[in-house]
Amino acid sequence: MTDTHHSAPDDVLMGYATGTLAKAFDLVLATHVSLSDDARARLETFEALGGAVLDNMDADDLDAAPVEEASFEQTMAKIISAPASEPTAPTGAIAGTFPTPLRNVVGGDEDALQWRSLGGGVKQYVLHSDDGGTARLLLIPAGRAMPVHSHNGAEMTLVLKGSFRDDGGVFARGDLEVADTQVTHQPIADPGEDCICLVATDAKLKFQSLLPRLAQPFIGI
Ligand code: ZN
Repeated sequence: MTDTHHSAPDDVLMGYATGTLAKAFDLVLATHVSLSDDARARLETFEALGGAVLDNMDADDLDAAPVEEASFEQTMAKIISAPASEPTAPTGAIAGTFPTPLRNVVGGDEDALQWRSLGGGVKQYVLHSDDGGTARLLLIPAGRAMPVHSHNGAEMTLVLKGSFRDDGGVFARGDLEVADTQVTHQPIADPGEDCICLVATDAKLKFQSLLPRLAQPFIGI
């Protein structure tokens, strides 16, 4: 797998490295990192940095360390001066649609899923849901547009098969799109192949048109 065009932003990767993401987002990041050389290399740098910072502190420092010492800006300044690490082999490079972290949750590949129809050929499979968010697989038929929507919270979309496009660009296998309350978009699956995505959200979507809004209570998006 070569580098992807859209990989996780640094703050999201650091959240993943420090284990502070909700489970739904954690699964998306674990799967993304297994597909993206770029994200994996940066993650390894963050993890090495975290270990080096801890190694250089004694127990008194740890007790006394103010929260500000771990501020994002300061940590980033250290990272920029840290040597780049060589990426290790992709852990998701196996045959099939689902990389290992996702396959472990599903208990198989694409053909193991009992998809639930959302109408218009769109299907979903909910993998995990708790107070921190919901992770679902979404299948969008080739050439089909999703309803225009904005977001009440965070949404991370990782492409596993096919591709989609919106104002943010074209997203193919391994690419991650991060959207928040500032983003309104309409993902459209490219023609030729159905698009399967792993999507995590921590709040309901805001649909602009009536039909998706009416269906929302039934489909739980
Ligand atoms: Zn969205």
